[in-house]
Amino acid sequence: MQRMSVKRSNKMSNTGWDVVIVGGGPAGAVLAHRLSEDPDRSVLLVEAGPDYGNNVEDWPPELLFSQEQPLTSHSWDLHDAGNRIFLPRARVLGGASAVNACYWIRGSASDYDDWAVSNPGWTFDELLPFFRRAETDPLGGQLHGTDGPVQVSRADHWSPGDLAFTEAAASLGMDEVEDINGDRVQVPSVGPVPKNIVADNRFNAVLSYLAPVRNRPNLTIRSETLVDRVRFEGEHAVGIVTATGEEINSDLVVLAAGAYFTPGILNRSGYGNEEDLRSLGISVRQHLPGIGQNLLDHPFAVEVAEGTLTPEAEFGKQLQGQAMGRGRSGG
Ligand SMILES: Cc1cc2nc3c(=O)[nH]c(=O)nc-3n(C[C@H](O)[C@H](O)[C@H](O)COP(=O)(O)OP(=O)(O)OC[C@H]3O[C@@H](n4cnc5c(N)ncnc54)[C@H](O)[C@@H]3O)c2cc1C
Repeated sequence: MQRMSVKRSNKMSNTGWDVVIVGGGPAGAVLAHRLSEDPDRSVLLVEAGPDYGNNVEDWPPELLFSQEQPLTSHSWDLHDAGNRIFLPRARVLGGASAVNACYWIRGSASDYDDWAVSNPGWTFDELLPFFRRAETDPLGGQLHGTDGPVQVSRADHWSPGDLAFTEAAASLGMDEVEDINGDRVQVPSVGPVPKNIVADNRFNAVLSYLAPVRNRPNLTIRSETLVDRVRFEGEHAVGIVTATGEEINSDLVVLAAGAYFTPGILNRSGYGNEEDLRSLGISVRQHLPGIGQNLLDHPFAVEVAEGTLTPEAEFGKQLQGQAMGRGRSGG
């Protein structure tokens, strides 16, 4: 079932919303959750894809099945300019969290501390309260939260493949650890993958961040609505324009359409390389050539091995590796 939910906030004034968030992936879902905590702030979350709601029974099974990434389901069908590399991105409320591998992994403290050199506020110690606030990790302790929206779990029994992987890693000198997220400084180690999976289902950003707050009268979720650009009056953003030409007014516009689509919305709004924008007939608001440049993504390689499926694997619960190794990160 595909559903389009439009709920009117009792706080929306005649002139528009306090905040419009574009894109209902993890970033947009977290923002909608947190910004609507203030009942006097009206928040509209706009998503291009469908909204399957709060109940897992209403979700397409492939989006819930956590042991495979359904890369072609709800796909934006993106490819690189040479049309050789498929770039999976999901067009659905929940964004890529509805198709991803559910690995719930932190970086090493020194990585964040490096970021903080030019971005004050981003040291590991400053971020730790937010890491903790996001999760419910049954391992608890100083580094984990135990009452956040994202439920973290680890497999309780391993397949022969996981055991072989762990033994091989240990024979290379990697420490076996119970908790891959359990240290400030990451050292080469092997252990069970922490995953955001609940009752075998991919616990996407809708189920973790939007389901608990949908009944807030000041939060509206509008799905199946493609946003074209930000609308301006003079120097100020005053709302958005959808692909059908509808104008939605807002005091604040937050673009959370992901690394691939936020730059496009900015370009269509007049921000980017002026030469490129002019060649596309877009009037230039500001020459910012960095927008849409320097994209980094991580490659994904699949190794296929022939073997006999264990009863657990046949049941479909353990098709994906439950053990992971990590190398040294940071200093
Ligand atoms: C196959 C795959 C596996 C991954 N595995 C992991 C993992 O195991 N662990 C991990 O931590 N991360 C993983 N990731 C990365 C993680 O899912 C992303 O970092 C995360 O989803 C980014 O969130 P986001 O909200 O910024 O963007 P997205 O998740 O891309 O969400 C953007 C949303 O904006 C919507 N949108 C885009 N353009 C418009 C528009 N014009 N109008 C309206 N809506 C629009 C999209 O439909 C989408 O819902 C994986 C990603 C992929 C693709």
